[in-house]
Amino acid sequence: MMAEWFHELRQLISLRSLKARIFLIILLAGVIPCVFMRYGILDNYEERAVELRVATVQNQLRVIGNHLISNNYLNNTLPDEMNYAASRNVIDAELETISNLYEGRVLIVDSSLRVVKDTYGISEGKTIISEEVIRCFRGENISYYDKEHGYIEMTVPIVDTSTQAEEGSASTSGTIVGVMLTSISNDAIINTMEVLNRRAVILQNLMFVFVIAVAILMAILVSRPLHKVTSAINEVEAGYANESISVPGYSETANIVNAFNQLLKRMKVLDDSRQEFVSNVSHELKTPMTSIKVLADSLLAQGDAPAELYKEFMEDIVSEIDRENRIITDLLALVRMDKKVQELNVTSVSINDLTELILKRLRPIARKKDVEMVFESMRPVTAEVDEVKMTLIMTNLVENAIKYNKEHGWVKVELDADHQYFTFTVSDSGLGIPEDALPHVCERFYRVDKSHSREIGGTGLGLAITKSAVLMHRGSITVTSVEDEGSIFTVKIPLTTSVNRTQTGN
Ligand code: ADP
Repeated sequence: MMAEWFHELRQLISLRSLKARIFLIILLAGVIPCVFMRYGILDNYEERAVELRVATVQNQLRVIGNHLISNNYLNNTLPDEMNYAASRNVIDAELETISNLYEGRVLIVDSSLRVVKDTYGISEGKTIISEEVIRCFRGENISYYDKEHGYIEMTVPIVDTSTQAEEGSASTSGTIVGVMLTSISNDAIINTMEVLNRRAVILQNLMFVFVIAVAILMAILVSRPLHKVTSAINEVEAGYANESISVPGYSETANIVNAFNQLLKRMKVLDDSRQEFVSNVSHELKTPMTSIKVLADSLLAQGDAPAELYKEFMEDIVSEIDRENRIITDLLALVRMDKKVQELNVTSVSINDLTELILKRLRPIARKKDVEMVFESMRPVTAEVDEVKMTLIMTNLVENAIKYNKEHGWVKVELDADHQYFTFTVSDSGLGIPEDALPHVCERFYRVDKSHSREIGGTGLGLAITKSAVLMHRGSITVTSVEDEGSIFTVKIPLTTSVNRTQTGN
């Protein structure tokens, strides 16, 4: 259990687990927009607040500018000294109010760049040569936000609309007779931003917690069906269940489960066929042993049996031993053929010569049954095959054609080839195979007529061995038959190993 936890933890840390990846993706997808949103909103607010403040202050200053003009503040040449002083005080008070309101400083500069009024009272009477002021006299309105030092600087022209604009002047509706240079503090904006930022941080942290919770939940939910599949497979492996598993979840997990069930089914088929094979083998090997025992027992029972009887029984025992031997030899051949890794011992073989040789070897058996054997070759065929296995294939087919033939029947062997394959066909005029038995004739120990096959020395393994050998050559074997008329076995095998290799490679 601890090892499992440790393994899972390592998988999580190394990001190899799906859970960890889903968690991380959701976390990033939730957290990154949150952070961007916070900074984006705050930045936007600051920009808008500064713009608004500049516009408000500029408007108010423009109004004061108009007052300045109407009261001839800049020239201070009003005939009525008393009136002038009174209106100057009013304007000064207005300027004070503005500078107090916005925690700033207002400088009024006349056309000779002399500071007429400084709300701080420091620079009055001094000449100011500042780029902003000069540009403002040319008609440019300037505002500048110094974020680092926390102030906004702006210039507002004092326009005398009673005079005509000078030639080339930027102002079209009057003459710029002075400039108000103002710097105001942005503390209020900063304060608001701090409050906003604090709220945004709280909101952002709440979002973080929420996103983390969602990410954990999703990671668990998404990976749950996969865990279920794993534990279902583990249960099968541990032997608790051997039926097909079912894990309803996503279509992907359903596909995995389907594929696993198919594999399970195939394994079950293999297991069944292995069990059937073992029981068939035991049965087949037991039959001759039982016969031998019965023969030996009956000899022993008759203590003074005549020598002829002994001889006869002994002959029977020998033939049963031969049969046992044949079964074992065939079984060994089959097992060897089943080892897929076994390499074919491929050489270039003249199939015509090989067929002639096999027919010559089998002729005595055919003669015994008075079966005529014919060989027809369409063309000389040379192929890259394993000669021993090829001999086995041909011998089994021709031998069967003779064994399951009628008296005075015939066996016809045909050989043909195209540019890729050669075909070896064995037809006979024999007993034929019933249609329902056709798909089974190549199965191990399958015999259409058990007793007849046994009588003529069959083991039921010949065609299984033949089929294995053909498949090893990447060939195919087909059979057609009509009961009581005869059968046709056709084997198709590639001429060269290059065809073999390409197909094996697939
Ligand atoms: P066996 O050792 O019994 O001959 P095989 O595997 O060679 O086993 O053949 C399986 C069965 O197929 C045989 O028992 C026989 O019934 C049938 N069979 C095979 N070849 C022929 C054939 N040429 N004509 C009729 N039946 C055949």
